[in-house]
Amino acid sequence: MKLEKTKILRDAPVPAGGDIYYLCSLCGDRIESIPIHGAACECRNIIVDVDAGRISIKNYEHAWYVEDRASKQTYSTSIILFVVIAVTLSCFAYFLGGQ
Ligand SMILES: [Zn+2]
Repeated sequence: MKLEKTKILRDAPVPAGGDIYYLCSLCGDRIESIPIHGAACECRNIIVDVDAGRISIKNYEHAWYVEDRASKQTYSTSIILFVVIAVTLSCFAYFLGGQ
């Protein structure tokens, strides 16, 4: 599944979240927007400073963010499918056992 990447703008607030990642097109690195101890990409174009609560970007032309919600959706869809199959099988077993 292809992820939608959006350019980070100099004058706009930078989004952050558990399913948001920053992408540097200079080195191709992907870093978390809420890292535990701060994070930086390979070429240090994007640096997330957790203690200061800010993100510093040297070259905005190569700074992107992606929302990785797709993988989570796929994950919950498989769980729902699994539950539906499990319930169907137990109903089937119940009716078979009753006769
Ligand atoms: Zn980089």
